[in-house]
Amino acid sequence: MIDKQPSCDDVFEPALLPVDVARERLFSSLQAVRESEILSIEDALYRVLADDVISTVNVPAQANSAMDGYALHHSQIPDSGERTLSIVGTAWAGKPCREQVMDRQAVRIFTGGIMPEGTDTVVIQEHVRLHEDNDRLIDIDHEVQAGKNVRPAGEDVAVGQCVLAAGRQLQAADIGVLASLGIGQVNVVRRLRVAFFTTGDELRSLDDQEPGQPLQPGLLFDSNRYTLAALLKGLDVDTIDLGIVGDNEADTRDALAKAGALADVVLTSGGVSAGDADYVTRAFHDLGKVSFWKLAMRPGRPLAYGTIRDAVFFGLPGNPVAVMVTFLEFVQPAIKYLSGMHDVEPLCIPATCLSTLRKSLGRVEYQRGVMRVDSTGQLVVESTGKQGAGKLSSMSVANCLIVIDADVDGVKSGDRVMVQPFHGLLP
Ligand code: AMP
Ligand code: MG
Repeated sequence: MIDKQPSCDDVFEPALLPVDVARERLFSSLQAVRESEILSIEDALYRVLADDVISTVNVPAQANSAMDGYALHHSQIPDSGERTLSIVGTAWAGKPCREQVMDRQAVRIFTGGIMPEGTDTVVIQEHVRLHEDNDRLIDIDHEVQAGKNVRPAGEDVAVGQCVLAAGRQLQAADIGVLASLGIGQVNVVRRLRVAFFTTGDELRSLDDQEPGQPLQPGLLFDSNRYTLAALLKGLDVDTIDLGIVGDNEADTRDALAKAGALADVVLTSGGVSAGDADYVTRAFHDLGKVSFWKLAMRPGRPLAYGTIRDAVFFGLPGNPVAVMVTFLEFVQPAIKYLSGMHDVEPLCIPATCLSTLRKSLGRVEYQRGVMRVDSTGQLVVESTGKQGAGKLSSMSVANCLIVIDADVDGVKSGDRVMVQPFHGLLP
């Protein structure tokens, strides 16, 4: 009888490294980049703040009216019945009224107008009676509420408040908030450099192929390099594409050395499946440290992780779906962490599964799903169908991964599952 070795086909393999243990190992070994640069806020979208931003001003700077109406002091509100007030000026947005407002007086005020001295309340124009014979007189009644319709100074942001914390990846609203505080420049973590190459003698680059010419039998287009470049584009990093490297130790070592010298993060695809594992680790020689992880996950079981000089190295599987899944589960959070972000784990949300999913115990599975909100407002997800690890088109059809834990042996239609959206929502 043949003494069979462990393989991806095994239902349960206790020696596999659990995904959460691998994640812990990964994050405990990473050190966020410290170098930063000052950028104008126009150039800072999606960059990560290196320092807290503390406001030195109140926004709004002064109390102002939230409505068009009349500003008065609350002591002018009658206990019962009505009272006549005389209008002593007008406060426009951007054009304050300098009058000191006294007893039995009010000021005509428009939205955004600064509350004049001696006023603390705005009565909206619909709630006053204008005198027909004298446009400087109004009547108010006892139903006016003290302090109403006033936006206090500092209501949005107060002096001394930490508005945006270090580690925050700046979004469009943050750029606006910074502008509202009069802050035109921010200190952000320098952009990460990520170098990548694919390995495989069978790979052909789109650039080297005559248009319209079929590939020789056994060859295939190198899609992983394009997928990786596109995934990295979404992370706002500088990329260095080192092309395709043949399946031999010398070329792989040269490419690894070059990548390690140029980048903070080095990614490769291929050459790490069980049979090839030694070939990737051997290519390292004295370049750095590398370990080969057999992960309790599918797809994406083989993953090499280590360092080349100061760069973090991920040897991703060759399989195109596994490349994407290991990128989303390990590389993307690591790149975010290295860029100084704190919130790096993929967003996971509960949904009702409408498909029956087959799954083996002992490993986390990331199955491709299409999620949507159904007519009752519930988030539901359906499988894309066959989950072949080479079916890259299934990733393209999918809009999320259905994440099924290691201790679950299948999903019935109607079960709750966790889904990780790919796009449309913040990661
Ligand atoms: P490997 O891990 O190198 O054995 O690769 C596993 C399988 O993934 C190969 O047999 C190819 O079919 C596929 N593959 C590897 N690299 C690429 C690539 N760069 N682009 C597309 N498919 C690839
Ligand atoms: Mg290969």
